[in-house]
Amino acid sequence: MSRQAYRGAVFHLLADPDDAGPEAVCHYDDGVLIVEDGIVVEAAPWSESTLSALGGVPVEHFPGKLIVPGFVDAHVHYPQLDVVAAPGGPLLEWLSRYVFPAEERYGHREVAQEAAHFFLDRLLQSGVTSALVFATAHKVSAEALFEEALARNMRILSGKVLMDTNAPPGISDTAETGYMESKALIREWHEKGRLGYAVSPRFALTSSPRQLELAGRLLAEHPGVLLHTHLSENLGEIAAVHRAFPDCPDYLAVYEKFGLVGNRSVFAHAVHLTEAEWGRFGKAGTAVAFCPSANLFLGSGLFDIAAAAKSGAAVALGSDVGAGTSLSPFAVMADAFKVCRMKHHPIDAFRLFYLAGLGAAKALRIDSYVGNFAPGKEADFVVLDAAELPLLARRLAGARKFSEQLFARAILGDERAVARTYVAGRRAYARKVAAPPV
Ligand SMILES: [Zn+2]
Repeated sequence: MSRQAYRGAVFHLLADPDDAGPEAVCHYDDGVLIVEDGIVVEAAPWSESTLSALGGVPVEHFPGKLIVPGFVDAHVHYPQLDVVAAPGGPLLEWLSRYVFPAEERYGHREVAQEAAHFFLDRLLQSGVTSALVFATAHKVSAEALFEEALARNMRILSGKVLMDTNAPPGISDTAETGYMESKALIREWHEKGRLGYAVSPRFALTSSPRQLELAGRLLAEHPGVLLHTHLSENLGEIAAVHRAFPDCPDYLAVYEKFGLVGNRSVFAHAVHLTEAEWGRFGKAGTAVAFCPSANLFLGSGLFDIAAAAKSGAAVALGSDVGAGTSLSPFAVMADAFKVCRMKHHPIDAFRLFYLAGLGAAKALRIDSYVGNFAPGKEADFVVLDAAELPLLARRLAGARKFSEQLFARAILGDERAVARTYVAGRRAYARKVAAPPV
């Protein structure tokens, strides 16, 4: 048995702050997180009696730093790291001009391995300990990511992309091979360590009706796996979906037709849903990944968080790199705030941290394992400071309330705000301290 205590300011959310109000917020200026064998024992205020109760348990002290749960990215493409910040074109043009050629290389194991290694290192550097990740249509691209995530003991969800239509041959499968390869990957990787599988048709335009039907079959045959795809991101895409599926009254109806809309489904974007779609979306218990940075970068539109909240759908933040421009949850939170502001529905710091943490864990159905410091959860956590961000440090010093400090962290932070990242109680990243000037 190995016990360890971490002392510092501690913050986590016990519930959705929109539902539970102040009761959802747990914050100790001087607190302690106690971890045993990678599992949270408790988060509590620090006191001298804590010290004596801990007996000989080693205590690591982080004065002036804030300990928070590991962040969760609800939608990201690891094979798109090489086309991040590629200029030009709305969604469909951007996909064919930059993304599809880049994804072709992921049929080579060594390319996929190197990128998976780099990607997971960058997630940890950004304080992200869990994510729902698109691979490519190559089986080996999913295998490489699972192997690397298993080696790091990270709670990562992914799957090979299903894509048999409107795509170059180098990144296509067929309805049948897509089904068989997905099945083999589920058998090998789902629930291995902390990994999980997501059946991943890219979106309605790149799968034949037969492939979508088989994706529905995969879901029905494997009750624990997720469905991960894109929905209603861009107006040109929506018009093309109407042309491709004239028998379906709207975009969501295409996925409904094939049994892909339910409480294990995570749809990225949902920027242009109609009121009728939102109504059905929420009723199905579906989750949406709100990807503000990507929506701004591709000019897709502004997500309507008020409509999402009204629908009852679970909402989470996704970086959506490479359309998104940063893996840092701080960059995504800052863009989320601005998009919500543009939609006349500004959100507070607790909401932002919820969407990037516990709320995202709920959307991905992993909240019984991660998302906060409830006793028994896996000890994924991040130590934040402002030592490398002088503007943030100055702003924090002037903030009167904790909520104001937290908001400044969300808006002004980036990966330099992450001093350390722990995965299941093990230190997985430590920021290098810059040498003092001579
Ligand atoms: Zn995406």
